[in-house]
Formats: sequence, structure tokens, C-alpha cells
Amino acid sequence: MASVVIIEDEQRIRELVARVLADRGHDVESTATAMEGLQAVVRASPELVILDMGLPDLDGAELLKMIRAVSDVPIIVATARNEDRDVIRTLDAGADDYLVKPFSVDQLEARVRAVLRRTGSEGRDGPLAVGDLVIDVGAREARLSGKPIDLSPKEFDVLRFLAERPGDVVSKRELLAEVWRQPYGGSEKTVDVHISWLRKKLGETAAESKYLQTVFGVGVKLVDPDE
Ligand code: CA
Repeated sequence: MASVVIIEDEQRIRELVARVLADRGHDVESTATAMEGLQAVVRASPELVILDMGLPDLDGAELLKMIRAVSDVPIIVATARNEDRDVIRTLDAGADDYLVKPFSVDQLEARVRAVLRRTGSEGRDGPLAVGDLVIDVGAREARLSGKPIDLSPKEFDVLRFLAERPGDVVSKRELLAEVWRQPYGGSEKTVDVHISWLRKKLGETAAESKYLQTVFGVGVKLVDPDE
């Protein structure tokens, strides 16, 4: 549970996001303009900000810089600007994650969970554990039953992304967007190849999967095989 400030001028989206997060037990404050949003961030010192990039009184990117000047609060940017270049620019400007509109409630919840887990006081760079698989995010090391696994940077990033949301099915498209930062380009084959390399290193195959389970036509999830 966290305190969240939502800055979004579109009433329908603002109310939806506020309701979804309030239902999850978060303490939500929502504002419709950049200036109110900035005031709310300064006053409430929230643990998370969800920021729409297209605001009536100020460009979201400008507001992002202003918030960053006064606060390290995690920021998830919601944007309709779906070009890679804009996404990268936003992340470079200090956003922690982004949502491309239109986004689903599931996507919103997954992003909020992941950002809070990454930045939360308890989970900051701490190891992620799924069964006997332990991923030390800070050290970028993975161990299976205590033995280090030799992973390439991308393999590590895929495993980490899945381990941050154990049991959740993640689509190849989402992995391309998150790990390869290619929300609209890229080949799903790339993901297939990395998943198959990861399987080999985890001592399993597609036919006899343990940790990495493919959900046909949907994606892949990381599970504790002993559960
Ligand atoms: Ca807007």
C-alpha cells in the first residue's frame, strides 16, 4: 500500500486509475492539472506519481523535470505518444516506467506493483526468490539451488522481469517493450530464442518445463515448480 498522486486531465482515465488503485488499498489523490499536481506532490510527498504527458497547462515532460528537481518519487508516465524515441526521452528525463495509452487495468496494476517493488523500502535492490531460484538484482547475479547461473545481460533482464511478477503471464510483446525497449518493433523470435537459452541454463526444456512455463498463445510465466 502506498500513497499515490495521479496527474491526469482526462476525467474518465483519472477516475478509472484512482478507483483501481484505491481498490488495491492505495491512498490516492488525483489532480487534473500540472500545477495542482506539482502542489500535491510537494505537499503530500507521495510514494508514487502517475503522470499524464498531455496536460492542459504544462507539457508533462516539463512537469516531470519540475518534480525531479524537488523529489525522487517514483514516476510512471502515461503517454499516448507511442514512438520509441519519445518513450526513451521520457525515461531519460527521469520517469521510472511508462504506460502507453490505451492501457489495460492489468497493465496499470502490473506497472504499479513492479515500480513499488523496485523502489519500496523493503524491496530495494533486494534479491528476488522464486523457489530455489534467487535473483540478486543489485549484483545482477542469479543462482539456482545456490549455484551461480551464467547469464547474458538480456537473459538476466528477462529473468528479472519475470521474477518481479512471479506467476503472471507476460506476453512476448511485453518483453520486447520492457527488456528490449521495442514496444512497436522487434521480432518475437528474439524473445523465443532467449527463453530457450534461459531454459537450457535452468536445466529444463519446453517439453519438460519447470520454472519457465509457456502459456500457449499468451506468453510465458515464471513459477516455483514445487508449488
Ligand atoms: Ca491528457
